[in-house]
Amino acid sequence: MRIAFIAHDKKKDDLIDFVKRYKDVFECHELFATGTTGKLIMDTVGLKVTRFLSGPLGGDQQIGAKLATGELDIIIFLRDPLTAQPHEPDVSALLRLCDVHCIPLATNLGSAEIFVKALKTDRS
Ligand code: PGA
Repeated sequence: MRIAFIAHDKKKDDLIDFVKRYKDVFECHELFATGTTGKLIMDTVGLKVTRFLSGPLGGDQQIGAKLATGELDIIIFLRDPLTAQPHEPDVSALLRLCDVHCIPLATNLGSAEIFVKALKTDRS
């Protein structure tokens, strides 16, 4: 599977803990991420990640474009629901494209855990 990760700043620690916990699962898949999130995953977890621009600089839109052309299978996007984001229009556009193209989207750890359960049975 081609999996993209995005985490807003206050959710980055949660995402890193999550990816570390399931490193054995994620290392069997092709990983993508926005700039800072991807660097953190590479530096602290040691997984290979294809990085886009940082979210506020266009990374969310790059991920949206890639899923719209059928090049991503799953999005794990830990959003911060309590802080206004300067790139909120890009965030909304990405969520919308997931719905347009029926791409599974986890926006919190609860749903991300369910995705991992599914990934454990699909190592493609
Ligand atoms: P970042 O972008 O991984 O570069 O921090 C995430 C975002 O805020 O969209």
